[in-house]
Parts: sequence; structure tokens; C-alpha cells
Amino acid sequence: MEQSLAGRTALITGSTSGIGHGIALLYAQAGAKVMLNGFGKPEEIARARAEIGAAMGVAEAPYSAADLSKPEAVRQMVKDAEAALGSVDILVNNAGIQFVAPVDEFPDDKFDAIIAINFASNFHAIKAALPGMKARNWGRIVNIASAHGLVASPQKVAYVSAKHAVVGMTKTVALEVAKLPITCNAICPGFVRTPLAEAQVGPLAKAHNVSEQAALEDLLLEKQPSKRWIEVDEVARMALYLVGPGSGGVNGAALSIDGGWLAA
Ligand code: NAD
Repeated sequence: MEQSLAGRTALITGSTSGIGHGIALLYAQAGAKVMLNGFGKPEEIARARAEIGAAMGVAEAPYSAADLSKPEAVRQMVKDAEAALGSVDILVNNAGIQFVAPVDEFPDDKFDAIIAINFASNFHAIKAALPGMKARNWGRIVNIASAHGLVASPQKVAYVSAKHAVVGMTKTVALEVAKLPITCNAICPGFVRTPLAEAQVGPLAKAHNVSEQAALEDLLLEKQPSKRWIEVDEVARMALYLVGPGSGGVNGAALSIDGGWLAA
């Protein structure tokens, strides 16, 4: 693969699984030094560190166990990344959680956790990483929002609110750095094939007494006109474009990768 990120450093939150893992792997394969973050079983984290470390030519990739629901932990994670990598040239705010319930039944603690992890952590990480980017006169910030950062669905009040806020914050930061060689963009995926997302198909088929294919196309991917999953690698490639050569003119964008969802 082209070493388009040779010499760059990247902190990718929530990179022990799913989309964040895919982005970290692609960035490492493109020549970046990356730091991982996220939860998981110790053996899963060790496997991710070894796999991504191998792409970087080291035994294991640096890793932060920071709990992003805690602002102080987010700030410490950025400091740790700067110490381990020498800088944070690229920040990918990816970590996120979901909870589904009607607004009048939505648990307060779930609402607070989603706002803290999916939205506020992005603010704390950007605030902590931006001074270093300004000092080195180069930076890239990529926030993994969602199609739900641009449109709503029922039962997802906290997630939709947090992701809309991420898109708003992306635009504000973009305007503040517009004259510098720093950009801040959001990626807005539709349904992406990750183990957790895929695991919803079986129970959905059972609950509605339909085939798994029908559950996928008519229920889970109801709003995704392509009727297929977006693959992790497709999102990672968009995230690679936004930090690689020739990306400097893209700033404050909320880029859809959703099989046509937002076109409808
Ligand atoms: P995932 O569950 O596979 O990965 C989430 C990551 O975030 C994991 O590494 C997890 O350990 C980490 N994380 C969760 N809470 C954390 C905390 N408090 N502190 C630190 N790390 C924490 O999910 P995914 O599908 O890969 O989602 C990644 C991002 O993409 C999320 O922001 C999600 O909202 C967004 N997204 C996903 C989809 C999809 O269909 N999968 C679609 C649109 C947007």
C-alpha cells in the first residue's frame, strides 16, 4: 500500500473493534504511527495491538485504556499519545455507544453516557490535541458521526442528539482553523457491518418471523437504499482520504457514506 501517511502520528479512539480498528489498521498500513484506545477483553486488545503493531513494524501498537466518559481521562489520553508517538498529527474521534428507547422511557444514565462518550469526549480530545497541531502547523481531525448526525430515527434520542452535535462542532472547529493547514471533518456512515450490528439480524428475523435476508433488507436496512451493509474498510478509506495528501481543501464537511440514505 502507498505510504501516504509516512511520518504522521494518529490517535484513534474506540479502535479496539469495529470501525476504529479498521481505521487504525489502514492508517498503520499507510505508514502512520498510531495509538489505540477502547475497551475489550485483554486478549482482544492484545490481538489488536499486535496486529496493528505489525503493520507499524513494532511488537505492539501503543494503547490507552482511557474511559472517554471522563473528561480528565480524555485529556490524559491525548498527553499519553503525545508522549508515546511524539505528537498527535491526526485525531480520529470514533468511540461510541448506542441505546434505544422511547424518549419518555429513556434512562437518564444512558442519555448522559451517550452524550459524554459520543459527543463531549470529541470536544475534550480536540481541545487537548489542537494546541500541538497549531504548534506544528499541521493537523487533521476526523469525527465519526453517523447518518443520524444529519437525520433522525425514533427511539434514538440521545444518539441522534449527540451525533447532530458532533456535526455542529465539526463545522465550528473547521471555521476556527480554516486559515491553518488543519482540517476538521465528519464522516456520516449508514449501517456498517460490525459484529455488534450484524448480531442484530438474527433476533430481528426471529421477532418478526421472517428470513434473515428479509430482516436485513426490510427491517435493519430499511432506510439504506443500497440494501447492503457499508463495510468497515469503506469507512476507513474515506477516513484515510481525509488525512492524506490532497485533503487540505476539505474542511467542515459531513461526508455521507450510507448507500444513498440521505438522498431519499
Ligand atoms: P464498536 O462497538 O465496534 O466500537 C466502539 C468502540 O468504542 C470500541 O472500541 C469500544 O471499546 C469503544 N468505547 C465504547 N465506550 C468507550 C468509552 N467509554 N471509552 C473508550 N472507548 C469506548 O462500534 P462501531 O460500530 O465500530 O462504532 C464506531 C463509531 O461509528 C461510533 O461512534 C458509532 O456511533 C459510529 N457509527 C457506527 C455505525 C454502524 O453501523 N456500525 C454507523 C454509523 C456510525
